[in-house]
Amino acid sequence: MSVLVCGAGPTGLVAALELARRGIDVRIVDAEGKPSQLSKAAVLWRRSIEVLNASVPVERFTAQGRPVSGIQFEADGCVLQEIDFGTDAGRFPHGLLIPQNKTEAVLNEALESLGVQVEWGVAVKDIASCKDYVDVDFSDGESSRFAWLVGADGAHSTVRKCLGVKFPGIAIDRRWLLADLELPESGPEDRIRMFLSSAGLLGLFPYGNNVWRVIADAGPIGIQSPRLDPTCEDMLDILRTRSNLDWTVEKALWLSEFRINERQVDQYCHGRVILAGDAAHIHSPAGGQGMNTSIQDAVNLSWKLAMVIKKQATSSLLNTYQDERHPVGAAVVQGSGRMLRVMMNQNPLIGFFRRWVLPYIVGLPPMRKEAVNRLSEVDVEYCGGPLAPTGVGRWIGRRCPDVSWGDDRSSIYDLFTGTGFTIVRLGRGSITDALWERVIRAAGPDVVSVDAAMPDGAVAEEAKAFAQALAAADGTIVVVRPDSYLGPVSQDIEVVVSWFRQLHNFE
Ligand SMILES: Cc1cc2nc3c(=O)[nH]c(=O)nc-3n(C[C@H](O)[C@H](O)[C@H](O)COP(=O)(O)OP(=O)(O)OC[C@H]3O[C@@H](n4cnc5c(N)ncnc54)[C@H](O)[C@@H]3O)c2cc1C
Repeated sequence: MSVLVCGAGPTGLVAALELARRGIDVRIVDAEGKPSQLSKAAVLWRRSIEVLNASVPVERFTAQGRPVSGIQFEADGCVLQEIDFGTDAGRFPHGLLIPQNKTEAVLNEALESLGVQVEWGVAVKDIASCKDYVDVDFSDGESSRFAWLVGADGAHSTVRKCLGVKFPGIAIDRRWLLADLELPESGPEDRIRMFLSSAGLLGLFPYGNNVWRVIADAGPIGIQSPRLDPTCEDMLDILRTRSNLDWTVEKALWLSEFRINERQVDQYCHGRVILAGDAAHIHSPAGGQGMNTSIQDAVNLSWKLAMVIKKQATSSLLNTYQDERHPVGAAVVQGSGRMLRVMMNQNPLIGFFRRWVLPYIVGLPPMRKEAVNRLSEVDVEYCGGPLAPTGVGRWIGRRCPDVSWGDDRSSIYDLFTGTGFTIVRLGRGSITDALWERVIRAAGPDVVSVDAAMPDGAVAEEAKAFAQALAAADGTIVVVRPDSYLGPVSQDIEVVVSWFRQLHNFE
């Protein structure tokens, strides 16, 4: 067996799916007896939807969730600011309000359609990692050998502990409450509502049909204090006092307390064992980035691991997973921590800033755009990294902007149906068929090659500059990685061919 994926949360499911889709022999186990029914992550952000679209078309997620159209800041019964996410997202929503268990169910269904079943109730107990393989002991007494092990077993990762890898960081000494509540007549169900009260933060996320995720800061607590889940009455009291609105709770679906840790491992890759998702980084839920960052880890890792297993690249390509994803994880730990500290700081000056200044700052158009891009993770890019060296044009390493063709505005993302690279020849220019054949050969066996006319539009506002640059350069080759980040975008085929040569022989 080529790969064992330990853990069938979002990270493990995506890793197994992306590997299986590429024909890799994969096994996935989870210590729990059945899929989780917890709604944990409330929002699937746009970049996650985009990178998954080739394996799980966006429609499968939209059928289960509802697009989020904005955030509303409120205090003392008034709306202070409405931040509209805008309608310019194009093919994909900025974010989708969908409980994590439904996201996992969609991923699991896609995995099962490829003939891979999660083995529930099977835990990894111990591992021994060697140069060429990993030996794994399971909870049912089985011992097996695998070529690779993906540790996607969450914050308390057994795989990480077996490796002896430290998880440096801090535990935050505050108590947080979470509830999924049925709240009749609770307002528009397409907006996140944030209540800024001196008594503490209150956030509401609509799941539809009057069901809302409620999150509230419950103040300082000793790190060792035992966990105490809130009651329905506790939540009702918080709702009323912090919003100054009258609420009725019809039903409580989930009541829980949680604590926040901010941690990240130094190294994601440990020979034949690779860590991803919460096993590698955990942080505050502010901004809702945990599951999304984890999904994108798994996508980034899987196409590279598949290339290594298929001998289309050397194992050094896996170092680029660390190089690209570790800084993203670090930025999320830091950014969500900063957001959290502004929200829970009791200093009156910060309280004044939070109540009277912050909502207006984030409402300014440039700030709104930046906030939406940050939340939806479309601003994640790998420019200057090992696969996007400087001097190869302005686009390499960026997320592929959503340009379009024709009257029906079909999106470039509709071309990303394969498992390898997508290369697009835009117009002909000086790229003869013989030269184009050379590029296709350089790209490798799983390439999808497309001859296209010049794009004539941008599906989304943010793609206008890219569409304009392409429209002005007849005979451009656009290289798109399997995770829909850009490789070279160039009229010079030598630039493209040598980039692929380096990728396949990565040192
Ligand atoms: C209350 C709460 C609210 C959250 N809200 C958000 C949000 O709004 N947005 C967001 O993006 N993120 C949110 N998160 C974070 C998000 O849930 C995680 O980031 C995400 O689940 C990470 O996915 P994962 O697959 O890496 O880990 P997990 O989801 O933890 O999955 C790990 C899996 O590994 C299994 N496992 C563990 N040990 C073993 C073993 N030894 N052998 C086999 N299997 C094992 C577990 O059973 C589990 O199924 C929230 C988390 C919590 C707790």
